[in-house]
Amino acid sequence: MTSTPRWRQVAAATGLLSDDGTIAQTIFAEMTVLANRTGAVNLGQGFPDVDGPDYVKEAAKAAIDAGRNQYAPGDGVPELRHAIADHQRRRYGLDVDPDTEVLATTGATEALTAAILALTGPGDEVITLEPYYDSHAAAIAMAGATHVPVPLTADLRLDADALRAAATDRTAMILVNTPHNPTGTVLTRAELEQVAAVARERDTLVLTDEVYEHLVFDDAVHVPIATLPGMAERTLTVSSSGKTFSLTGWKVGWMHGPADLITAVRTLKQFMTYTSGSAFQPAIALALADEETPRALAASLAERRDLLCAGLERAGFDVVVPQGTYFVVADGAAHMERLGLEDGHELCLRLPELVGVVGVPVSAFCRPGSTAAQTMRSRVRFTFVKQPEVLRDGIERLAALTR
Ligand SMILES: *Cc1c(COP(=O)(O)O)cnc(C)c1O
Repeated sequence: MTSTPRWRQVAAATGLLSDDGTIAQTIFAEMTVLANRTGAVNLGQGFPDVDGPDYVKEAAKAAIDAGRNQYAPGDGVPELRHAIADHQRRRYGLDVDPDTEVLATTGATEALTAAILALTGPGDEVITLEPYYDSHAAAIAMAGATHVPVPLTADLRLDADALRAAATDRTAMILVNTPHNPTGTVLTRAELEQVAAVARERDTLVLTDEVYEHLVFDDAVHVPIATLPGMAERTLTVSSSGKTFSLTGWKVGWMHGPADLITAVRTLKQFMTYTSGSAFQPAIALALADEETPRALAASLAERRDLLCAGLERAGFDVVVPQGTYFVVADGAAHMERLGLEDGHELCLRLPELVGVVGVPVSAFCRPGSTAAQTMRSRVRFTFVKQPEVLRDGIERLAALTR
């Protein structure tokens, strides 16, 4: 008997394995190709169209000129590890030892994948919320673990009963993502207490993806689950400079947690990339002391969110107003019915030619046929991390749907 190669398992887990065995491109690639071919406004892929601060870019250039061009230490350069520990203490009151409890990584992606590979395996169950970020499902498949997605409610909140019912003796890890991509949901302290209670009762690890920690709006507060009672000892907290400082291409991310768990993850990470970004790490260390840049970004994103949400409502979509991230989930059921379309995927395939806008179906972040996929079937994720004029152009085009 031959086993299914791991890469095919990853393709299957991320919805890329077609019935005929061929490998499809990701929905993001598919929609970006469509946007480029049709000249549509791309509100599908979530990356900023304005770079992060000049002084951070200058610091990276200076680091290159100062000769910081060879391998950085595998844990990350000391000034970055200290800056991460300072950031966590200053913002959240978390006590983090920069020498034993921090690992700089190649983006949050490497931190998440290395942690899942290091700490889970065949026979283990890993719980995530559903919809989920695609790399989470891919990493669980790479580890050979079993992914147990727990659907969010229709109004995009945690379903604590569903979470409790999903947890078993085999649950090795609960993977949390707040602020949440693709929904923009910011889990409240009360919701996180419920996650924490299940983790403690079942004695699971918690891996938390907090890459949008600074991008919260209105009166929403980002609460790291590691700050809840009894949680620091079982939690690995992951974040990244990409979203916070609009430098997604630099891929400077990190993880912190108990020294024994960090040692476990480092053991794998050192044979994945070993290290990366030796000139970018000191620049991000500098940026992490800066509270103003992320605050200004969050304020401007809140305005752009309002702009896009109002435009979507006028264009006949029902939106759940997000309290964080770059994204809003909009329900296109009314349009689908009128146009005789099956689901959000079909709507997204038609939107570029119909009105010249690209979005991403939320079902792409769900397991095919799942409860969540059903709840989300008519919903589309749009990004608002674009210049206001780009958003206004997109909104104007979407308005044509109602004419
Ligand atoms: C963008 C994103 C990541 C990836 O972060 P990198 O630092 O670019 O690797 C991880 N998780 C979520 C939820 C994201 O949206």
